[in-house]
Amino acid sequence: MSFTLALVGRPNVGKSTLFNRLVGRKLALVDDQPGVTRDLREGPARLGPLRFTVVDTAGLEVATDESLQGRMRRLTERAVEMADVCLFMVDARAGVLPADEIFADILRRKARHVILAANKAEGRAGESGLLEAYALGLGEPLRLSAEHGEGMGELMALLEPLA
Ligand code: GDP
Ligand code: MG
Repeated sequence: MSFTLALVGRPNVGKSTLFNRLVGRKLALVDDQPGVTRDLREGPARLGPLRFTVVDTAGLEVATDESLQGRMRRLTERAVEMADVCLFMVDARAGVLPADEIFADILRRKARHVILAANKAEGRAGESGLLEAYALGLGEPLRLSAEHGEGMGELMALLEPLA
């Protein structure tokens, strides 16, 4: 049995970019898989020798009547329930925004394991966001660039004990 990793964070931090990188570009995204509701996207991930299941909160992208904040809470709580470990992603370029605090709060209360990641941290543009991420009190942020594939070895090292 392997583990399930949930990608959690507000819209636009790069969750789907990382999802696609972990799953591989050719996967048909499986909204209709048994046991998976359509707002969560689940796929088989590989990272070096690790094989696991990755879950993305895709429904945050879909416009509905429900408020974004309500949807963020509902989807995040469901993703957290499914997950052995949550990768909480913030945008190192945008810094920590009020919406990020909502996720931090849910994760502190409900998640079994949390790995904090500051994404979009390629180059020097993410330095101040990385410092702000420290202040969330969820440990040292992993420096990540989902788009450029940076920080994947470090992510692997953090996930390895769970495999
Ligand atoms: P999601 O809403 O959290 O799923 O975010 P997406 O994966 O859709 O990404 C939102 C935007 O951020 C897109 O334009 C991505 O190309 C961009 N993005 C994602 N990861 C990175 C990264 O590591 N660096 C930079 N500079 N942009 C990124
Ligand atoms: Mg997305």
